Amino acid sequence: MCVYCLEDHGFTEHLEHIYDPSSTGDIILVFPNGDRFEMPDMVLHYVFDHQWLPPQEFIVDVLSFDAESVKTERFQTKGLMDPKPIDMKIGYLQGDFSIGEVTAEFKEKLVRLCEIAAKDYPWMVAPRNKEKKDGMA
Ligand SMILES: [Zn+2]
Repeated sequence: MCVYCLEDHGFTEHLEHIYDPSSTGDIILVFPNGDRFEMPDMVLHYVFDHQWLPPQEFIVDVLSFDAESVKTERFQTKGLMDPKPIDMKIGYLQGDFSIGEVTAEFKEKLVRLCEIAAKDYPWMVAPRNKEKKDGMA
């Protein structure tokens, strides 16, 4: 579960959130310039629902390369005893949570990267169904 949802609001489910606030894995991105980032599945939830501002180096890399040129790998972290070594972790993995504005172009490219990385787990990065949300309210 997203720790920021829990901190702010207890265990209440937020129907206005676009992305699911739960995750069981992380995504590693290796950019053509050699930069490696590890981010949680929930990165879209952080950016879209909590206005999380990723590190500037990450934003620059996302904007600098075509999503198709980035190597992506998703792996389960839940129950994983031997985390992979990584240069830079972002999101809750890094412990810092800054709030700020990102551009629509960044959001679009981040969604594309997540779709590619989680192609075997499409529900991880799919926006929630608006009608289903309304039906649950
Ligand atoms: Zn959250």
